[in-house]
Amino acid sequence: MAFYEQEVGVLIPEDKLQARVRELGAQITRDYAGKELTFVCVLKGSTFFAMDLARAVDLPLTMEFLGVSSYQGGTETTGEVRITTDVSKPMAGKHLLIIEDIIDTGLTMSFLLENLRARHPASLKLCSLLEKPSRARTKIDIDYKGFVIDDHFVVGYGLDYGEKLRNVPFIGVMKGK
Ligand code: 5GP
Repeated sequence: MAFYEQEVGVLIPEDKLQARVRELGAQITRDYAGKELTFVCVLKGSTFFAMDLARAVDLPLTMEFLGVSSYQGGTETTGEVRITTDVSKPMAGKHLLIIEDIIDTGLTMSFLLENLRARHPASLKLCSLLEKPSRARTKIDIDYKGFVIDDHFVVGYGLDYGEKLRNVPFIGVMKGK
């Protein structure tokens, strides 16, 4: 029995995740044909998704990583976001695709889009594995979206619960919460 089985139930199983990642990879491959693409992966939650998606994209690809921290006001983000780890190269003139795990209130992404846009990339798009539209506090256009989910707190495939459970191989929900 796996270490997480008593705590975590399956919301999106592994095979469904991987099939959707392959579809998104094929779509990105078509859309960016002839261009050099840069993934801007948001730490830490998007990393599992980003690694799989990168392998599903048949194009020359650069990977950058960016860490953000949101100040918590009670149970949700206040919209005050800060970059804790920045990308390693200038972003001007590049085709940037932000890779995110989940858009919840949208406040973190709203900050990040504005921040990256100010660096004058050639293009800027967003790919998020999950979207929880019921919690949206600002409208975020997601160019490549994996799944729309109801208002659950999800874990696994990179998403954590107190820094743990990222290595659960599917998108799960905490039992009894
Ligand atoms: P937002 O600014 O959209 O409210 O928050 C986005 C960030 O909050 C995500 O990148 C993620 O780190 C975290 N987050 C939002 N919803 C969930 C969730 O259901 N599970 C986990 N583990 N993190 C979440």
